[in-house]
Amino acid sequence: MIKFWKKRLEGSVLTENLEVDSELEKIKKELKNTITKKFAGSLAIRMVDSGSCNACEAECNALSNPYYDLERLGIYFVASPRHADVMLLSGVMTLNMLPHAKDAYEQMSSPKWVITLGDCTSEKCPIKNSFAIAGKIDESFRVAYHIKGCPPEPKDIVLGLLDFLRSRR
Ligand code: SF4
Repeated sequence: MIKFWKKRLEGSVLTENLEVDSELEKIKKELKNTITKKFAGSLAIRMVDSGSCNACEAECNALSNPYYDLERLGIYFVASPRHADVMLLSGVMTLNMLPHAKDAYEQMSSPKWVITLGDCTSEKCPIKNSFAIAGKIDESFRVAYHIKGCPPEPKDIVLGLLDFLRSRR
């Protein structure tokens, strides 16, 4: 045991230094300031997967890791639509999910916004002619902002949220 601890204490640090993306830090700072100014310090997001391949959700999960750490900026992913300001829709709008997405939207209190995430929610959707798809999302919801990409990287999502917030009065 003593040998083990001696080796550990004498050895060098094995972890790598974190590479700081100064552009991302700038975006995060502006995001935090904008949320403080326009949303009293917190923006609650309800994520709704209406038929995605789950890669968009995986990128969103990364937003909670210590590198992006969106909660530190005042952005929270909430379980109930009743607590949400924004519905973040990902994936194609399937016939099965359309009533549930509409129900979630109905439960949100006003003012409320829909942001679409990923190419599946746009004209670029690769399977838009499938029998299981209810149609274009903007026929069922008023879309306030679209974040493109397949999947969008976490930085694109952060930038998209900032762009959306900039457009709010
Ligand atoms: S946009 Fe791409 S990554 Fe996102 S759900 Fe569609 S296929 Fe998957």
